[in-house]
Amino acid sequence: MSETATRTKTAITVAYGDGIGPEIMEATLKIIEAAGAALDCEKIEIGEKVYERGISTGIEPESWDSLLRTKVFLKAPITTPQGGGFKSLNVTTRKTLGLYANVRPCVSYHPYVDTKHPVMDVVIVRENEEDLYAGIEHQQTDQVVQCLKLISRPGSEKIIRYAFDYAIKHNRKKVTCFTKDNIMKHTDGLFHKIFDEVAAEYPNIENEHWIVDIGAAKLADTPENFDVIVMPNLYGDILSDVAAQITGSVGLAGSANIGENYAMFEAIHGSAPRRAGQNLANPSGLLLGAVLMLVHIGQPDVAEKVHNALLKTLEDGVHTYDLYKEGTSTRKVGTSEFADAVIERLGQRPEKLKAVTYNTQVAQTQPKQTWKTLPPRKKELVGIDVFLDWKAGTAQDLGQTLEGLSTDALTFKLVSSRGIKVYPDAFKEMFCADHWSCRFMAANGTITHGDVIALLGKFQDAGLDFIKTEHLCTFDGERGYTLAQGE
Ligand code: NAD
Repeated sequence: MSETATRTKTAITVAYGDGIGPEIMEATLKIIEAAGAALDCEKIEIGEKVYERGISTGIEPESWDSLLRTKVFLKAPITTPQGGGFKSLNVTTRKTLGLYANVRPCVSYHPYVDTKHPVMDVVIVRENEEDLYAGIEHQQTDQVVQCLKLISRPGSEKIIRYAFDYAIKHNRKKVTCFTKDNIMKHTDGLFHKIFDEVAAEYPNIENEHWIVDIGAAKLADTPENFDVIVMPNLYGDILSDVAAQITGSVGLAGSANIGENYAMFEAIHGSAPRRAGQNLANPSGLLLGAVLMLVHIGQPDVAEKVHNALLKTLEDGVHTYDLYKEGTSTRKVGTSEFADAVIERLGQRPEKLKAVTYNTQVAQTQPKQTWKTLPPRKKELVGIDVFLDWKAGTAQDLGQTLEGLSTDALTFKLVSSRGIKVYPDAFKEMFCADHWSCRFMAANGTITHGDVIALLGKFQDAGLDFIKTEHLCTFDGERGYTLAQGE
C-alpha cells in the first residue's frame, strides 16, 4: 500500500467563507483529496452570515473549539461588512492564535501569466501581530488622532529568526529587511538592530537592509534581485500585495499565517462577490494556501504532487477567465473544470515552468519561538512629556504659561506640536494644531512618580486639559525617546 493510503488523517478546520469562497474551497479540497491528502475536515461557519447574526468578530464562539483542537485552519475569503462595529476576522484570528508570521510566496509564471517580471520568486515574511496593527488608537483633541506603533524585542526577534530559518529550510540564499529607521529610530531602529544581531548567527545566508521606500521601489522594479524579505507588519501588508500583483495576478498567491501552536492558510485575495456562484473564480490562490498547509502538517509529498500538477495545468494553457488570453491559453474553463484539469495532471511535472520539490526536511516542525532574554537594563526616569488639548492662544502664550509651572524637581524645557519645537526660539508663523507636547526635564538627574504627580497638580490648577503623559527614560544611560525637531 502507498504511504498516502496508510497515513493517519490530520484533523483540520475548514471554513468555506463568502462570495467565491465556497466554490474555490470545494475545488481545492477535491484536488488535494484526489492527490491523497489524509485529512479529517471539521467545517465551521465564518463571515457575513455570522456578522449578520450580531457576532462582531464574524466567528461563533463554538468554532474556536474546533480551531483550538485541530490547530490548523484552511480558510476561504470572507466578505467584510461595511460600517462600524465589525472586527476584522483575520486580525482576531491572528491575535487569538498567536500567528506571528505571515508568509507569502510570490512567483511569476511567465509566459503563461502576463507579467513585467518574468523572473520573480520572492517570499515576503511579514510580522503579523505588532506595529500599527496593535489597533490602539485614540482621538486626543478635536483636530488630532493617534495610533500607537508598538515594536517589541521578542516579537521582532521571533519573526526575523523565522525568516532566516525559512531561508535555510527552503534553500534560499538571502534575507533582506525593510524598515524606515532613518525616521523611526526607536521602533524601526529596534527591528533593524535585531535583524543585524540575528543575521550574524546565520553566516551562510546573505543579508541586507534597505530603507523601505527605496526597497519597495527596487522590489517593484527588479524583484529578481530579492529572495526572502522580512518586514514589520504595515510595510509587509502593503508590499506583499504589491509583490503578488507584479507576478501578474493576486489571484494566484496563497499565504500561511504561522504561530507556535496554530496555523492558518488562505488565498491572499478576497471574496470577489461579483464573481460568486458563477463557476468563474480561479481556485489557484487557495490551492497554493492548501499546499503550504500540506507541507506544514507533514504531507510534503502530497503538496509537491498538487503544486506540480497546478503548474502543469497553467503551462498547458488551461486557464480561468482572469488568466485567459488569446494566443497563450488553450482552454477557458470554470472553477470546477479547472479543478478537474489539475486532478487529471496529478503525478505530472511541468516541463517549462520550474517544478517544485518539497522534501521532508522542508516539512515544518512547529517553528521555534525563540528570543534572547537579555538582563534588564538600568531604567531611569529623567523627564516627562505632558500632552495638552489647548486652543486658547499661540505657542508663545502657552510657553509663557508653562515657564511658571516648573517645580523643584522638573524644569520646563520646550513645547512641540506634531513633533516640531514651537517654543522657545521657533518661527512664530508655524502652524500648530490643538495638540501640544510640553517637555519637562529632571532638574537633578532623575525624578520620581511623585514628582510627575506634583507637576500634573500644577497643570490642573492652571486649568490646562492634559490628555496624556509620556515618561522620558534612559536605559543604561542611553536615551529612550526622540528629541523634537529643532530641540
Ligand atoms: P477581491 O480580492 O475579492 O477582488 C479583487 C478583484 O480580483 C476583483 O476584480 C475580483 O473579481 C478579482 N478576483 C479575486 N479573486 C479572484 C479569483 N480567485 N479568481 C478570479 N478573480 C478574482 O478584493 P475586493 O473586491 O477588494 O474585496 C471583496 C471582499 O473581500 C471585501 O468584503 C473584502 O473585505 C474581502 N476580503 C477578504 C479577504 C480575506 O478574507 N482574507 C481578503 C481581502 C478582501
